[in-house]
Amino acid sequence: MTRLRIAEIFGPTIQGEGALIGEPTVFIRAGGCDYRCSWCDSMHAVDSAFRDTWAPMEPAQVWEQVRDLSGGVPLTVSISGGNPAIQDFAPVIAMGKAEGYRFACETQGSVARPWFADLDMLVLSPKPPSSDQVVDWDAFEACVQAGRGAGQTVIKIVIFDDRDYQWAQDAAARHPELPLYLQPGNPEVDPDVPVAAQDVADRLLWLVEKVTADRWFRPRVLPQLHVMLWGNLRGV
Ligand code: SF4
Repeated sequence: MTRLRIAEIFGPTIQGEGALIGEPTVFIRAGGCDYRCSWCDSMHAVDSAFRDTWAPMEPAQVWEQVRDLSGGVPLTVSISGGNPAIQDFAPVIAMGKAEGYRFACETQGSVARPWFADLDMLVLSPKPPSSDQVVDWDAFEACVQAGRGAGQTVIKIVIFDDRDYQWAQDAAARHPELPLYLQPGNPEVDPDVPVAAQDVADRLLWLVEKVTADRWFRPRVLPQLHVMLWGNLRGV
């Protein structure tokens, strides 16, 4: 069986963002990503300069570590990255579901995988212009289709500025049937630099005022709770 490149496995902690915010969760962070977002706060799971820190693991080894961390209590497991969709997490999901765990996965939507259909929650997070990436909407559409069998698929968009906000309106309009989550971006990417909770709150207020002024009532607007609590610290 193909080994997975794993940047870190940690938890249980709470999910800090999106549809499952506050949910007790164990995180599997996959190593490697096909994007290079200008404001990525997970470069240790993206940049090949960190490749030596990514553990090559059999799916069963990944699963044993998740089970140990959760004490065998069937929590939610979130597969993130990097872009987890460039690897095959189907075996890990199958092992966990056999023991009653729930699985979420967050990906930018650039690579579709059949195992999206096995998830309880697929979070598709297309990256706005401030990321300096260009979304391949055909690939994104393939991801939406691959996730049709999932328990739920949602869209989550990070907003840094007015241009991102306008872009998000157009992007979200492609799939009006999917729940939509917006969150203000975090411009601080250095894990050693503290992030003031007030700064997070100020950016959240800016975004809340924009959607209410526009009477755009579709999205749920949320902060990154983990950034408010821990800044960019890893493994929490
Ligand atoms: Fe980082 Fe996510 Fe962008 Fe990859 S897609 S570079 S993990 S923000």
